[in-house]
Amino acid sequence: MEKRFIMEWKCGECSTWNISDTERTHQMDICQCGKSGVDLEEHLTRTIGNISENRMSEVLDGGVMKEIYANTYKQEKRGILGRIAYKLSCLFKS
Ligand SMILES: [Zn+2]
Repeated sequence: MEKRFIMEWKCGECSTWNISDTERTHQMDICQCGKSGVDLEEHLTRTIGNISENRMSEVLDGGVMKEIYANTYKQEKRGILGRIAYKLSCLFKS
């Protein structure tokens, strides 16, 4: 059974919280301001723009959310920052 993850992320440009879900694959979720976005996949996450905070949770049976990690990035606000990609798989010890 595939795991499902949800990432809540905060746009560093306009401070709006957005949600990305691994059930929507190969889709870049763009903030309402159009400057930041997240494409959440099970093993790889792509981001554009400026993400100031995020929280990753695994969705368990019955819709229970289990928090995996939370980050706050100390990024300077300076427009489109390019891309950051990082592997999530290293976080899991299974
Ligand atoms: Zn925004």
